[in-house]
Amino acid sequence: ERGRLSRLRHKPAVTLDGQRVDLLANIEMPEDTIGAVKAGAVGVGLFRSEFLFMGREAHNLARLPDEEEQYQAYRRAVDGMKGMPVTIRTIDVGADKPLDGKQQREDYHLNPALGLRAIRWSLADPAMFLTQLRAILRAAAHGEIHLLIPMLAHVSEIRQTLSLIDFARAELDNRGAVHGNVKLGAMIEIPAAALTLKTFLKYFDFLSIGTNDLIQYTLAIDRADESVAHLYDPAHPAVLRLVAETIAECRRQGKGVSVCGEMAGDVVFTRLLLGLGLRSFSMHPSQILAVKQEVLRADTSKLEAWAQEVLESENPAAALVRT
Ligand code: PEP
Ligand code: MG
Repeated sequence: ERGRLSRLRHKPAVTLDGQRVDLLANIEMPEDTIGAVKAGAVGVGLFRSEFLFMGREAHNLARLPDEEEQYQAYRRAVDGMKGMPVTIRTIDVGADKPLDGKQQREDYHLNPALGLRAIRWSLADPAMFLTQLRAILRAAAHGEIHLLIPMLAHVSEIRQTLSLIDFARAELDNRGAVHGNVKLGAMIEIPAAALTLKTFLKYFDFLSIGTNDLIQYTLAIDRADESVAHLYDPAHPAVLRLVAETIAECRRQGKGVSVCGEMAGDVVFTRLLLGLGLRSFSMHPSQILAVKQEVLRADTSKLEAWAQEVLESENPAAALVRT
């Protein structure tokens, strides 16, 4: 099967009815771009930048990577993708991605998934956030970078984030540093965000659906808690409805939308997502060829009505295996 799949590596991902589909890679380190290119990814849909900050030697914990170190890392990722776009997500630490040292706050254990993580953490430490933003904007002078913000829910957070991005640009201008343009995107991974898409689309160029957290927060299932793992259900009708509406609203407004959670790399969901109108999937590079095979076999004109039926179904998981 692997050998057969590898023949698909250089084949464009186009459906039977001629729809082009972007299959992108999720990466955690700049060096992961090697595997992404090998797998035939047409870009990076999610660079989880927190991995640059995590697992550092104990003596380094007090010092997060400085601007230059981050700039070099983002630039290596851009160079590694050889002109293809790279979506860099700003730091998402906290909860399932502990950073140690920085997080020894008294309230840390209360409920980390609902606590100070991702953009909340960045907005609580603007100097740290600005350092990352400057590094990303500088790397954008060398290739196409899309800047992606995790875990937004409130319009106040959106506004603060955008003004910090402007401020980072102004800081670079003031010191005469070269920087480039970025497309701005938001992760849709909190139900509140999926239910206020108009606000998000007013401020952002594209959206990326983080199903891992969207499932966690929609179903109130801690994604890291084994004792409730059997209830962590990507096919729950409520989850599918939020995913479907996000895709549909972006398409109505002509904005880019992709899925970068595990659902994007799970072949069980490929046809459903295509039927819902998704044309951009970002996943672990090891999944790209298997998903491409599903894309090559799919006829989206036939999948649309079926996808709506699955959405309406009481038990979508059963509908997905049956067909
Ligand atoms: C997600 O939540 O689906 C996602 C892609 O981000 P992460 O898994 O890094 O939280
Ligand atoms: Mg997430």
